[in-house]
Amino acid sequence: MLFRNKCTQCDYWTVFELKVNNDKALKICTHCQHREEIDWDSKSEILISDGEKDVRALQGHFPALGQLKNRGDHIRL
Ligand SMILES: [Zn+2]
Repeated sequence: MLFRNKCTQCDYWTVFELKVNNDKALKICTHCQHREEIDWDSKSEILISDGEKDVRALQGHFPALGQLKNRGDHIRL
């Protein structure tokens, strides 16, 4: 699954790939390939969907965020 967020490593707003494997999930920045393993539970799911809501809210001010659709897409606000 793909979702949008800000990467703490490359500092871009970008598209992340999430690979869930039971109780662990791998969060991969499709721009700099930074990987982070996180514990996967209902809390992390909420965190991801809240992040998407933030992006949608920010999109009103920064329409460029709407361009983040595919792997490797990245912007700096
Ligand atoms: Zn990154």
